[in-house]
Amino acid sequence: MKKSLVLTFTLVILWMENTGAEESDGFHFKARTKRQIQKTLTITTILEKPFAMLTESGELEGYCVDLLSELSQALEFNYTIYVVKDGRYGTKDQNGVWNGMVGEVIRKEADLAVAPLTITAVRENVISFTKPFLQTGISILLKKEASSEGSYLFGFLNPFSKELWIGIIISYVITSLCLFLVGRISPCEWAEPSNEQNQYTLLNSLWFGLGAFTLQGVEPQPKSVSARIIAIIWWLFSVTLLAAYIASFASYVNNSENQTPNIQTFEDLLKQNKIEFGTLANSSTFNFFKNSKNPTFRKIYEYMDKRKDRVLVKTFSDGVQRVRESNYAYLGEASSQDFVAAKHCDLVRAQEIIGGRGYGIAAELDSPLIRPLTIAILEQFETGNLEYLRQKWWENTCTATEEHASWVPVQPHTLGGIFLILGIGLALGLIVSCLELVCKSKNKADHQQVNLS
Ligand code: ASP
Repeated sequence: MKKSLVLTFTLVILWMENTGAEESDGFHFKARTKRQIQKTLTITTILEKPFAMLTESGELEGYCVDLLSELSQALEFNYTIYVVKDGRYGTKDQNGVWNGMVGEVIRKEADLAVAPLTITAVRENVISFTKPFLQTGISILLKKEASSEGSYLFGFLNPFSKELWIGIIISYVITSLCLFLVGRISPCEWAEPSNEQNQYTLLNSLWFGLGAFTLQGVEPQPKSVSARIIAIIWWLFSVTLLAAYIASFASYVNNSENQTPNIQTFEDLLKQNKIEFGTLANSSTFNFFKNSKNPTFRKIYEYMDKRKDRVLVKTFSDGVQRVRESNYAYLGEASSQDFVAAKHCDLVRAQEIIGGRGYGIAAELDSPLIRPLTIAILEQFETGNLEYLRQKWWENTCTATEEHASWVPVQPHTLGGIFLILGIGLALGLIVSCLELVCKSKNKADHQQVNLS
């Protein structure tokens, strides 16, 4: 009893010491932070959707503005925010002078850059970054294209896949042959008395099969049970196919106005010459292609470098406008592209994403602000706040179009059941026609025997 009391007491003391240590650590951290961030910070940012956008009243709003407000509350600092003077992210010009937000931070015109500023090695040489608050990569922004004239002319064939069309033609020929055979085998299809006349010639059988497709009751009408079985199964088959065709055609017509382009990768982009492509001048994306050793990306760089004045845009918004108004693909960061594709339903981002990268908050080299900001960003991650902000600013308003985009022609396996029923019906028709023949022959034989006797 005594022993356990002593043990409990020791444990309580140890726990109190530990908690105390943690609390004092937290206190030191906050005290340190407050000491470091006592003045009002000047923040530079860039107008890029949805990171920072101007409201009608001239104020700034967006993902970065919300993030900054969360960080200022967590670290208890005041700030003033403004838009970067030259509207650039930051690269070194020919004279070795940094422009954009990077330049402003280096020249101490701004204490921090809170923007979708990509963490790169060259920038990390001249400024300091926090850990990334958002991960992204480079992709292609394209316009959903209307289907080309050629495919539209024969668009009526698109609702069914090629395999299904072949299956239908084969079924049609086999059914017509079965009908022809049944017409031969079943005695009921022969004109009475046997005068070598049969309504199911090969041509008539083919004609009958076609008539069912147009829902017309064509002659000759079957008389025998076996031919009727085949006719009924064929009608059922035709009606099911027609229903599937009409449904698929309707959704094809809706979809063909907004088709996803064929370009899904950077290779695809190089293989064609209908669509021009470019990126943001003075951006990390441009430098990524410039410094890449991958042959595809090198070719992309050479293409853009040769047509610099034509294909490089000044701002992301210019790029988006060009994609919407002309044959142009914008190479840029997937996060911004996802945002515009979620808002403008005529735009789409290609599947391929290359060059994984992250956005960080920048401060002057070895700034004491970096560590507390990094910790605060990690806390925002851990509390799910950053995920909430992402959902808030990247809300998709194009869900209806996505449904259309998933349209595919009807495949044979979708209608597999009806092909099976047709097969069973044809076999049944043939068996019944044989039975009819046997019965008729037996009756005739019996009749003749009676007559003889
Ligand atoms: N976020 C990029 C930058 O920091 C812009 C881009 O590459 O599209 O330069």
